[in-house]
Amino acid sequence: MKQSKLFTKTIKELPKDEASYNALTLIRAGFIDKAAAGVYSFLPLGWRVLNKIRHIIIEEMEAISGQEISMPALAPRENWQTTGRWDDLDILFKISGSDNKEYALNPTHEEMITPLAKKFIFSYRELPFAVFQIQTKFRNEKRAKAGLLRGREFLMKDLYSFHSSQEDLDSYYELATRAYYNIFKRLGLGDETYLTYASGGSFSKYSHEFQTLTESGEDLIYICDKCKVAVNKEIISEQSVCPQCGNKELRETKAVEVGNIFKLGTRFSAPFSLNFQAADGSKQNVIMGCYGIGLSRILGTVVEVCHDEKGIIWPESIAPFRVHLISLNKNDEAEKIYQSLLDSGVEVLFDDRDLSAGEKFADADLIGCPYRLVVSEKSLAQGGVELKHRSAKESEIIDLDKVISYFSK
Ligand code: ATP
Ligand code: MG
Repeated sequence: MKQSKLFTKTIKELPKDEASYNALTLIRAGFIDKAAAGVYSFLPLGWRVLNKIRHIIIEEMEAISGQEISMPALAPRENWQTTGRWDDLDILFKISGSDNKEYALNPTHEEMITPLAKKFIFSYRELPFAVFQIQTKFRNEKRAKAGLLRGREFLMKDLYSFHSSQEDLDSYYELATRAYYNIFKRLGLGDETYLTYASGGSFSKYSHEFQTLTESGEDLIYICDKCKVAVNKEIISEQSVCPQCGNKELRETKAVEVGNIFKLGTRFSAPFSLNFQAADGSKQNVIMGCYGIGLSRILGTVVEVCHDEKGIIWPESIAPFRVHLISLNKNDEAEKIYQSLLDSGVEVLFDDRDLSAGEKFADADLIGCPYRLVVSEKSLAQGGVELKHRSAKESEIIDLDKVISYFSK
């Protein structure tokens, strides 16, 4: 894409009421715009990143037999009353329709998926299965001050699994745990993200969170460096040693919860009478699991974790573009390289604007594509194009005829 055609620009005027690093940087770089506290638009660059995150998550969910669906954001009041959460959940957005009925803007979808699944589950033969969606959630968060880490409207992937026995849920839960590890590795957060033991509720001792280490996180976790797992502060008083090896020397650190998997048991199937006929003819509640991941929170988290003083350093897998091609003092060679990169399927942002070298370099560092290619009279005189990795100090000259093969590897 040509940068001159991008309808957004890097901006200097920042919203005065925004304090979080991730939001300020993403606004400055033209990835997002702030509409209200905890409410953001995703602009072309930000939307490209979000879609890459989405793609990785969909692949991993399909690999564990998740079937993608899309449920409404708007829920009838009855659904939330059935589970008692209409009155109990303080973050629930409630609105009324012109039919004088009340609705909730779903903050999560157990109250939607359970009655939906009831229409298709009759006997053990229909089980197990898993469905997921990637969709906007609404939560009336009190402290929406952490940018994309705590939106009042945000994007979540939620997968729900349905089982005829606890053992079957347990083995699917293991599969989902591995899928989550894959996701965070592919997103470039593998080293910073810890499986974390958290409170489980009435159907299992623990739930598991995936926590990414960052100073801007609101959670405190205690890491076992031997097992590479952690314990959330909320359960540390009852679980003061590593649950896997008994290690007492746990290291306290700040983190943000990027994912959460939970054995729901019959918490939702019981109130909605989601039952099935077992092989022995008896009627039983379906056993459920739920598995969430915050896509927009991940986008913000990556910015918190992967940056330097000049701007963002995107992991290659989710960068808005792989290459940022910069042309200095209009030259035909840059245009030709742009066309050949496009022809070979390389994702490239082409800075063809009439700006100084300094301004273009500053924007490139802020936007943070993994590779910067500069075509200038100087580079051409040296026989080629200047190539620099976003995180490297030094650049190198590569021959004009090697540029395409370099990126088609
Ligand atoms: P937190 O404890 O941070 O408020 P939660 O435990 O309420 O989060 P879940 O209900 O487990 O969150 O939601 C699943 C996932 O959705 C979380 O792991 C997180 O990645 C994401 N998420 C939750 N709340 C928000 C929010 N306000 N803004 C952005 N992402 C969120
Ligand atoms: Mg959670």
